[in-house]
Order: sequence, then structure tokens, then C-alpha cells
Amino acid sequence: MRCETCGAPAILLGNACVFCRTPVADSHAPADLLDYLAARLPDAKLKRFGLRRRGPVRELSLTVGATSFGATVVRGRLQLTPSLAPAVWVDRLLTALSEEAAGDHDLRARLSRAGWKLRGTPSRTSPPSELG
Ligand SMILES: [Zn+2]
Repeated sequence: MRCETCGAPAILLGNACVFCRTPVADSHAPADLLDYLAARLPDAKLKRFGLRRRGPVRELSLTVGATSFGATVVRGRLQLTPSLAPAVWVDRLLTALSEEAAGDHDLRARLSRAGWKLRGTPSRTSPPSELG
């Protein structure tokens, strides 16, 4: 399942898409998260399934600031470095990217194009969390 707003694999943090913060109903950690991230993070190092390197991404690594992020698909499941729940891992990644983007206009534009909400921005207008 995917977020209907930004098209990301639906990973929730606080009942909202971890990428764009749109409230979403359901969550799991899909392996195609890596393909999604790889398409939007050209600086990430990738390993792919398949002889011609055209298959799905099976390993992604990216250093942002002082933190090395890694994600590997092992038997269809994600193994993440740092070892965190997927939503927390992505949130940590976006936080680090946001800090980098503060001094990198290209990165900022790229994240904005991806539809991702940069972290740590002064405006804290969180949507009302009403049920129904
Ligand atoms: Zn989203």
C-alpha cells in the first residue's frame, strides 16, 4: 500500500505518512521502500538484484552529515542501520537530510520535489488528530 498523497510506501509515524505527514490508515514496512528512496536520493549507494543491475534495490547506503544510514532486504524483510523501526529510521533520515538541506539548495529542491516535508522547520502546524 502507498500513501495517496506523495506515493511513498506507506510507513506511519504517529498515524501519519512519515514522508509527507499525511494521516494514513495502515502501515507495514515494504521492501520496495528501497526502490522509492533510491529514485529520490541520487547520492545513495545501491546494490540491486539481477545480473544487469536493473532489478529491485536490495541494499542502500547513504551517509548524511555524521550518520550512516543503511537498508538491506534480507529474505523480503528490511534490515536497517541504525537498527530502528522503519518509520523511526525514515524519520531520522529525513531529519538528517533536512539539516543538510539547510545549506544545500539543490538538496532542498530535490526533497521538495519528492514531496517530503523537511523536519525542524519553525512552523509547527500539525494537523488536528480527530477520529472519524
Ligand atoms: Zn506521504
